Amino acid sequence: MTVQDVQADDEEDEFSVVRPISLEVKILEKNDTQLRFMVQGIDLSVANALRRAMIAEVPSMAIDDVFIIENSSTMEDEILAHRLGLVPLKTDLKSYVMRDKCDCHSESGCSKCAVTFTLEAEASGSTRTVYSKELKSSDSQVVPVNGDIPLLKLANNQRVRLEAYARLGMGTEHAKWQPVTVCTVRPTSTILIDEKCDACQRCVEVCFPQVLRIKEGVLVIEDYEKCNSCKRCEESCPNGAIHIERSKDAFVFTIESSGVLPPESIFDSAIDLLKDKAQEFISHVTSLKTGGENDETEQS
Ligand code: SF4
Ligand code: SF4
Ligand SMILES: [Zn+2]
Repeated sequence: MTVQDVQADDEEDEFSVVRPISLEVKILEKNDTQLRFMVQGIDLSVANALRRAMIAEVPSMAIDDVFIIENSSTMEDEILAHRLGLVPLKTDLKSYVMRDKCDCHSESGCSKCAVTFTLEAEASGSTRTVYSKELKSSDSQVVPVNGDIPLLKLANNQRVRLEAYARLGMGTEHAKWQPVTVCTVRPTSTILIDEKCDACQRCVEVCFPQVLRIKEGVLVIEDYEKCNSCKRCEESCPNGAIHIERSKDAFVFTIESSGVLPPESIFDSAIDLLKDKAQEFISHVTSLKTGGENDETEQS
């Protein structure tokens, strides 16, 4: 879309191009870490932008600075620091800000942008494993998602003492800040079966998600939401009786959180991020139209 293509709907608010859309959302599956839902009424570009924002731009907490005070284990300091960074931490987005946006302007951070963890462990008598639950946090809301993640092993008389600082970050910087383990979007399908079908069952055999079934001698669609549009059924049908049409405006999202944030919060945050970006884009376009006047966000 060029600037000229933007149609002014309202004289006073020239660039708020509002296209009436009818959105339909259906939750297919939901638990503490997983959310699967279908959205009808959005474009593929929007669905994909949301997916990318969830993977790379929704912030979460992860350990980023580690000060090793003592480490007599066989694990090198760098490896231990790396392992600590990968421990998923429950994130509280309302109480913390990104370090580069914090007033403290400090490298080590403050109580608004950093959480401190300490670890003191020793093996006496026999070899033992140190687990993530032994990390002591300065904030009871920001703790490891799972307390049973092995961090290192200590042999008899070995000891580790360290201080670590967690901060908010984004997946664009490092995968340890990615809040999702899985985040996919795929178009839904329309499955059309015509009268040429003789219920030979070949399509049922090649449909791995078990969308199709023969019931009382008739081919039926068991669960069309599971269809991944692979078209194997179409290819296997000797009669050309089944047809798959990919939807252009209905998508199934699958969000699996690493546990740092509830999956619905990850989706909400991605929407907020896109709204902010759209607002920024409108400001740039407005500034172009006004010849740079009132441009607070002009790019260098
Ligand atoms: S397109 Fe693939 S998943 Fe969908 S019904 Fe056909 S074989 Fe099954
Ligand atoms: S392969 Fe074709 S003819 Fe056989 S059951 Fe499927 S749609 Fe019907
Ligand atoms: Zn700070």
